[in-house]
Amino acid sequence: MSNDVWVVADLKIDGTIRKVTFEALTEAKKKLVGKLGGKLCAVLLGSGVSGLEAELGKYGAEKVYVVDSDLLKDFNTEGYVNALGELIKQNEPAVVIAGNTVFGQDYFPRAAARVGAGVAMDAIKIDLSGDNKLQIERYSHSSKAIQTQVFHDGATMMATVRPNSFKAEESPTTPEVISGSVELNPADIHVKVLELQTKESDRPELTEAERVVSGGRGLASEENFKYIYELADILGAAAGATRAAVDAGYCPYDMQVGQTGKAVSPNLYIAIAISGSVQHFAGMGSSKVIVAINKDPEAPIFQKCDYGIVGDLFDILPPFIEKVKALLSE
Ligand SMILES: Cc1cc2nc3c(=O)[nH]c(=O)nc-3n(C[C@H](O)[C@H](O)[C@H](O)COP(=O)(O)OP(=O)(O)OC[C@H]3O[C@@H](n4cnc5c(N)ncnc54)[C@H](O)[C@@H]3O)c2cc1C
Repeated sequence: MSNDVWVVADLKIDGTIRKVTFEALTEAKKKLVGKLGGKLCAVLLGSGVSGLEAELGKYGAEKVYVVDSDLLKDFNTEGYVNALGELIKQNEPAVVIAGNTVFGQDYFPRAAARVGAGVAMDAIKIDLSGDNKLQIERYSHSSKAIQTQVFHDGATMMATVRPNSFKAEESPTTPEVISGSVELNPADIHVKVLELQTKESDRPELTEAERVVSGGRGLASEENFKYIYELADILGAAAGATRAAVDAGYCPYDMQVGQTGKAVSPNLYIAIAISGSVQHFAGMGSSKVIVAINKDPEAPIFQKCDYGIVGDLFDILPPFIEKVKALLSE
């Protein structure tokens, strides 16, 4: 068993590295690497990924393990599990971290099972316990409680971290690149990605956004969601929604925030005509500042927000949008 700490790079569809990878590298260096006395390493899995090592070095990765294979093109769960599992067996790192993204939630627990490691999901804090075991904090009970989990055996300790939980800070180094140590076998991969259809959007991705503007059932129609999109675009924010709004057909499912949608952790979350159910809160409760607009002064969202405006969204939003535009153009 080595004392190294690994961060698995999370790639976007366009092949660039997600911010959560840099956040995890920064936090791992601060909280884990010094105390464990090993190296900070990154793992780069994908197709045509060679060349991205320098970016990982910018955030402190001293070593980058690369598996560059056509079999990993467009993200392949089994390919990722086989590649990461084999790398862990060969090198026995102390800790392995990945982003708690849609991909991370998919392959990472399977990779942990493959190597017989424990796994903690969706950490908002990482540290070491007194006896140098990985200790994490995560939300539980629909974000109403924070749970501390600590590993207790000597095997590799694995965890995913929630995007936007840590600040990414550059700490440039030139990493040693290790490639070719894992050969993937096509016979071990039973599912092929045949086609990938992407949705073009100029808005930031919901799970990574610094600001999110979300709408609920109170918007009352797909047409009225234009207010959400307009405000989001002015603020450079992502657009989100409640399940009730999605179920009513006002917007697509990929905008759903909550227990059965996406988890977000922005600096600013604006909740418009959203009552504030526990299931919605489960996905946005870790937002740093929550602003609510709701016409019902008794709406539960007002118990949870930092700033609340009681009133009809159709009266408030048009002048509010104009005011924000004017302020930003000054
Ligand atoms: C297993 C399970 C999983 C779930 N997962 C999720 C999930 O992932 N995400 C999620 O969001 N929900 C989820 N839900 C649903 C959740 O319980 C709520 O039903 C949902 O969050 C309510 O959405 P809402 O706030 O948009 O609607 P409502 O609760 O109907 O609230 C609408 C609000 O809009 C306000 N309003 C109406 N008109 C106006 C106006 N003109 N101006 C200002 N305010 C106005 C009203 O006062 C009200 O507070 C889940 C439920 C279950 C059972």
